[in-house]
Amino acid sequence: MGRRKRVAVVGAGIAGLTCARRLAEGGVEVRVFDKGRAVGGRMATRRQNGRQLDHGAQFFTARSESFRAVVSDWLAAGVVAEWTPEAPARFRSRARFVGRGMNRGLPELLARDLDVSLQTEVAPLPGGGELHDAEGMALGHFDHIVVTAPIAQTARLVAPLGLDALLTRASHAPCWAVLLELSSRPCREDVLLDHGPLAWMACDSSKPGRPPGETWVLHATPQWTRANLELAPAAVTERLVRAFGAAVGRAVEPSFAVAHRWRYAQVEQAVGQPCLHDPSRGVTIAGDGLLAPRIEAAWESGHGAAEHVLAG
Ligand SMILES: Cc1cc2nc3c(=O)[nH]c(=O)nc-3n(C[C@H](O)[C@H](O)[C@H](O)COP(=O)(O)OP(=O)(O)OC[C@H]3O[C@@H](n4cnc5c(N)ncnc54)[C@H](O)[C@@H]3O)c2cc1C
Repeated sequence: MGRRKRVAVVGAGIAGLTCARRLAEGGVEVRVFDKGRAVGGRMATRRQNGRQLDHGAQFFTARSESFRAVVSDWLAAGVVAEWTPEAPARFRSRARFVGRGMNRGLPELLARDLDVSLQTEVAPLPGGGELHDAEGMALGHFDHIVVTAPIAQTARLVAPLGLDALLTRASHAPCWAVLLELSSRPCREDVLLDHGPLAWMACDSSKPGRPPGETWVLHATPQWTRANLELAPAAVTERLVRAFGAAVGRAVEPSFAVAHRWRYAQVEQAVGQPCLHDPSRGVTIAGDGLLAPRIEAAWESGHGAAEHVLAG
């Protein structure tokens, strides 16, 4: 019997984990590397001093039949749940799902039984299947490498192979997020949309299975974030909390507040195909930046990349 194919996946977000799971099911020996401290990438939950808030992706939808089938398995397993907040009508136009308990629960489930190395930043790919970390330490030799980082980071990783030219038109917008704990409810709604610098204001504790308390997540618009990208986190918090107060019609005084900057948040311009597969260089590029700013797109891209690698 021949040696099993060895594949490295860079990125343990939804795209990378979906790809790695499918490859492992297909009999491939797969290793996943991520520079972060936890799996999930932008499907993230921050835990601090007993508090817990989803500061990246807030929920996800399921548009395609194939993804709906996967989501029903996750619902049956109890790892995700439908979220039905008090929200504007346009928000309620389709079913929205969240991780039950916390959004990071879903990537944690996907990572189960996979060989994942965290806090391992991969360096630009030298070619020939070699992989090194940012300090130059060898991470192994692989038959194929799948890269699932946000577009700008992927472009840097594949630049030595000349593949960055395929990504020049794609991009992600940045997003300042502010996480809050309040002592009382600021308004009747659980979700407010589009008010001044804020694109999104949501009661995180209204999601299924969250700990008791009144926690909120604010996301600034891409325009406001770009204009204030280098502002100190304390100043961002102050300005966005004030804007939240204007949205709910009264001053908001949080008992806890912290800002988080996503340099690459939502896809602004996608590549326009599920993945870029280059068998001659032994590299496949995947991630939401290939398709759309959605968890579902990351899943579809990761799944598509795995099918290409399995096919040869
Ligand atoms: C603020 C915000 C709000 C959002 N809201 C929603 C929403 O409500 N609904 C929705 O469907 N989607 C939403 N999204 C988008 C959603 O989070 C993404 O589409 C999805 O999580 C992308 O998954 P991914 O696997 O493609 O990328 P990521 O989750 O970014 O995973 C890529 C991984 O690559 C790792 N990486 C990068 N470079 C390296 C390197 N050199 N070495 C090792 N590892 C590396 C990163 O650490 C990261 O973990 C939101 C995103 C943000 C930031």
